[in-house]
Amino acid sequence: MKLSNIQKWETLKHLRENAVGIEDGNKTVLILSVNSWGKTERCAFCGRNHYHGAYNGNRVSHCRNDLFNFPIDKNLVFQNRTGQLFYYSDGYVLKGEEDRGSFLDLYHVGVK
Ligand SMILES: [Zn+2]
Repeated sequence: MKLSNIQKWETLKHLRENAVGIEDGNKTVLILSVNSWGKTERCAFCGRNHYHGAYNGNRVSHCRNDLFNFPIDKNLVFQNRTGQLFYYSDGYVLKGEEDRGSFLDLYHVGVK
């Protein structure tokens, strides 16, 4: 689906306001649901879906360009509607859709 610029802006705003995170020490790491094909929900950092294949082990963030095709700012930070801060440098974690609720399903995704 081709999004207009206002739709892109609204999509990113919606994703960020409703972002869900997991507390990891003193930070909150973005959770992205991933289906059994390895496709994630839209990422709140870049607005795109990512494809991670089988989701075991450490992964590298797949964010490259945002919906507007601008390169992701490594210093990107946003706040969700509950006030949690999400730093791009903390990456995201993948969570299998079929296994909601289990910590064992979470695999850290670094940014490097
Ligand atoms: Zn992304």
